[in-house]
Amino acid sequence: MATRRELSQEIQRYRQAEALLRLGLRVPVVCEMTRLSHWFLRKLALEISGEAPAKGQVPNSELWYLRGRNNLHASLFLSLYRPLQQVADDAVEPAEMLIVAFQRYREIIEAAGLPEVLTPDRAWWLLKSVRIPSLKAIECQQCGGRYLMHQEDLPGPYRCVCCLARPSLPDAALADASRPDAARSVSFR
Ligand SMILES: [Zn+2]
Repeated sequence: MATRRELSQEIQRYRQAEALLRLGLRVPVVCEMTRLSHWFLRKLALEISGEAPAKGQVPNSELWYLRGRNNLHASLFLSLYRPLQQVADDAVEPAEMLIVAFQRYREIIEAAGLPEVLTPDRAWWLLKSVRIPSLKAIECQQCGGRYLMHQEDLPGPYRCVCCLARPSLPDAALADASRPDAARSVSFR
């Protein structure tokens, strides 16, 4: 028979699975994060959205994150995730931090009237890539924002695309949001 601790962990996994699916993560990703069965998660996804879960490949390439606007959005997301990671203790699961950081990213994007370029699946893959770590966040010497780069492309003194293009770039709001002082206001709710 399951102990009380095992039972509460099991319940927590189901809650997380539901929250991750509601956020928009695909079934195979939620499967990997929660270790719940694929069959069960497909049923749960169907129940939540009322339609069959999307099939096809989950993100599997780092190159996407290094291109222009994708890079700004991915860097912003990471700047929201990192402070959570720093304040979280061992009891906080990566899935919970992903949910909080992605919701915060969504709020900022919506407030700026920009399209949501980063999907929850891509945010998940990004966290995996940074953990490996083949991608690294580098600080812009002008605005102090942190931007993703491939380990092999690490430059000397670095200026981000927003600072190079200011003030004509509509994504300049993202650069402001990526600054460390902006990220510090993120908290668990
Ligand atoms: Zn900059």
